Order: sequence, then C-alpha cells, then structure tokens
Amino acid sequence: MLAVLSSIDGERVVRFTDARSAALPVTDLAVTRGDAVFETIAFFDGRPQALEQHLERLASSARKLDMAEPERDLWTSAILTAVAAHPPWPELSVKVVLTRPQEGEHGTVYGWVHVEAAADHSKRRNAGVSIATMSRGVTRAAASEAPWLLMGAKTLSYALNMAATREAHRRGADEALFLTVEGFVMEGPISSVVMRRGNDLLTPDPGIGILEGTTQQDVFAHAPSLGLKPLYVEIHKDELPAMDAVWMLGSGSLALPVYRIDGTDVSTDPKMTRRLNHHLRFGRRA
Ligand code: PLP
Repeated sequence: MLAVLSSIDGERVVRFTDARSAALPVTDLAVTRGDAVFETIAFFDGRPQALEQHLERLASSARKLDMAEPERDLWTSAILTAVAAHPPWPELSVKVVLTRPQEGEHGTVYGWVHVEAAADHSKRRNAGVSIATMSRGVTRAAASEAPWLLMGAKTLSYALNMAATREAHRRGADEALFLTVEGFVMEGPISSVVMRRGNDLLTPDPGIGILEGTTQQDVFAHAPSLGLKPLYVEIHKDELPAMDAVWMLGSGSLALPVYRIDGTDVSTDPKMTRRLNHHLRFGRRA
C-alpha cells in the first residue's frame, strides 16, 4: 500500500494507490541524485515504534538538505492511514520518503508512505550476526569540518552503505561496521552499534558523523532499568574484542547480537539480548 503526498503550488494532495502502479517523473532528484530524505518506521502488532523520533529525524534530515520542513500532522495521518489500509501483520515496515521541489514543475514536491510486511529478523535476533570492520574514509572530525558531507542525515543516497554491505559479504561477514580513518567505531550501513563493558552501555557520540538511531536512543533511555549506565564515548576498534557484548541496532531488526568480528569470535550476552529485544518489541511506546 502506498500513500502518495504531492504538493502542487502549495496545495496538498494525498492519494492511495498500489505501489506497483505509482509513478514518479524520471527527472525527480530523488531518483536521479538520491537528493531526498527518508525514514523507515517499524510497526509491531499495529503499533508504531518511536514515531515521534522518526518524524523529528525526518525534519532534521530535511533541514540539513535545505528542504522544507515536513508537516508533522500531515505525515502522521498519512502514515497511520496507510498502515490501517494494510492487512494486519505482526511486523510491518513503513518507509516514508520526501523529495525536494522539482525545478520548472510548479514547485511540485512528492512524498510517499510505503507499507509492507517486514523482513523476518527472528533468526538473527537469536543466532546473531558476524561483522567486518571497514574504513568509511573520513576522520572523526569530518562531520563538523565538512557539514556538506551530510553525515547524520538520512538521505536516499545509500549506494555507499550498500557497497559496504557487499564488501562485508565478500569478507564472509553478515554486516559491515564503519570506522573513521583513525579506527574509531561509527555505525553499520543500516544500524547503530551498542556495546556492553561491565555495567556500562556504550555507543559512539553522534558528533563522530553517524545517524542518531531511534532504537539506540530507546535502549539508552531504558538502560538504567537494566542496571546499565548509558555512555556516549569514542571507542577504538582495538577495544572491540574486549567488550562483554556488541549489538547492531535498527528499527526493524531490533538488537542483533554480534558473535564474530573480523573473523574472531567475541563474547555475547544472550540474556541481555533477550531483555533488550523484549523491551524493544513489547515495552516501547510510540
Ligand atoms: N545508522 C544508519 C546509517 C541507518 O541507516 C540506521 C537505520 O536505518 C540506523 C543507524 C539505525 O537507526 P534506527 O534505530 O532509527 O532505525
């Protein structure tokens, strides 16, 4: 199910259509340059996860790209209506895309909400994933020194992220983990990374040039009730093998335990993995 929002000369039009029959102009900058922003929001048992945080991040990404702020109420109602029109399913994935105005087309802006059954992550939530670390080719100061790199904005330009995932597969791993050129831990191509060392729960500071993950933020808010102290710190890749546990976190996948890093097995914490996923799956509020 697809809800298409278009704004033509300031007038908003929302219509629902089958995703396969929807059409975009081939000149749209989202298609030709990936110059657009998006979010992927999970719905579990019909309930949105961190909807406000996703809409806030959509607005923040739009600001970083000098695009107009998305209208919160309009998007909320389009998302909820599109989900209500989809047959009920335990885990839905809702992709929200907002493009920028087309030159010479009366300022037409397209946006859409696409709802589909989510991929089944249940096996990976239990069995875990192996990761391969790789340089993102930027320094730890790149985000502040070169804001035009749009680090921390969720744009449609994910070619680099997908290439890193293919490289991880070539190295026999499931997922990639980006590092700065100095070797500091950043994030996965589609996930945040969180680690436990003793009673500390660690994640890199977003200032290093990563997306602020809604799932990571949720886990951090919940950390004290798990007896853990949440900390934003610089973590060097050499510190990874000594962690008590490492997880890759995302809205749809939830917490995936990492059992191997660059070919070496690392410790996992199945009990904490279960507690994290139970909280993310059942304990969160929209
Ligand atoms: N980092 C990147 C680059 C991502 O693409 C994603 C999710 O798509 C995340 C982190 C995790 O964000 P969230 O927990 O909000 O899904």
